[in-house]
Amino acid sequence: MAERVRIIEGTWRCTSCETKDIPASKLSCPSCNNPREESGKESEFDFGARTASGGLARGSVADEKGLERAAQGPDWYCAYCGSANPGGLEACRSCHAKRAEGKQGQASELPPPAAPVAPPAAVKRRRWPYVVLGLLGTCGGFGVWATRTHELRARRVESSWERTSRLEQFTATTKQGWRDQLTEAAPVMPVDGAGERAGVTNVRACANAQRGTRQVPDGTQRVCHTRTKQEVCGHEEKCSVQQLGNGYAKETCRDVPRYCSKSYEECRDEPRYRTEPVYALRCSYDTFEWRPLDTLKTQGADDAPSWPARGALDGPQREVREERYRVVYEYPDGKSPKRWTKEPASEAEFVQWRAAHEVVLTVNNLGSVTQGALP
Ligand SMILES: [Zn+2]
Ligand SMILES: [Zn+2]
Repeated sequence: MAERVRIIEGTWRCTSCETKDIPASKLSCPSCNNPREESGKESEFDFGARTASGGLARGSVADEKGLERAAQGPDWYCAYCGSANPGGLEACRSCHAKRAEGKQGQASELPPPAAPVAPPAAVKRRRWPYVVLGLLGTCGGFGVWATRTHELRARRVESSWERTSRLEQFTATTKQGWRDQLTEAAPVMPVDGAGERAGVTNVRACANAQRGTRQVPDGTQRVCHTRTKQEVCGHEEKCSVQQLGNGYAKETCRDVPRYCSKSYEECRDEPRYRTEPVYALRCSYDTFEWRPLDTLKTQGADDAPSWPARGALDGPQREVREERYRVVYEYPDGKSPKRWTKEPASEAEFVQWRAAHEVVLTVNNLGSVTQGALP
């Protein structure tokens, strides 16, 4: 790609008499004759407005002398009088001091002009990762703090037990089921409340019923999505500007491809399905099931747990027993005390916990009890 190079002359400002816009070709102020120096930003040149492509709006240097001056490299500054001197000179043009002791100036890139796009959007996007990191950090720290635990002692304040006895009878009944899931089998009656089998007998009155649905292939359908892609759509000029360190700048411009987003349709044939009902034979049959006859309950606090009194099982019956135990402990937490409840699984465990007047609780920083132990 072809490059286009131009030399542009900058301007400077005299700090002795405040004259502005002095061309770089003038090494001394045309008003007060003071030589240009490094101090007071006298040698920081102005190159005028920038173009959209990053170049300079100012016209090119056309004369031989100016181009020659630009090609001499950066200026140097006299160690004695501070004057700026062209790269080609070996002694100061103001005081004739030797170049060797002077300070060498430098060429530098002129930063590109501020982008015309709104910068707040870019700034916002940038902040996201930090916000997320911050949140993660906070959550992590909170998690560590919350799971820290300490131990404290709790006092027993209450205990209770509750026992239920449900009497059930193995009773004849009629049910419905899918034909292919029914296997004829004779029922077996329980002996002392155990060893029974429900059985399946007298399968009858079978009829078609909807059991569910299934997906059936039904041709294809065309599905389209709108997508976008980046495409070269012409060229644009991009320029960079190098300050040569002597009041002149070198502008280099080249053409680079410009990209545009283009939307297009992407289509393909996808299989299509329809929903169909599925039928199967549903039948009635005879069987047995446990049905509750009555429920008896006993409860207490500090006494010994006991089961509700029942007579002997009468025929195809069984007794189903359930037991629940609770011991409540109280521990200090700020102004008002808090309670923690232990639910022992068995009577033996219940008796053990109820006997303990004090237990040791492990509490995390959120105030939740994570563990309770007998002393
Ligand atoms: Zn001046
Ligand atoms: Zn000098």
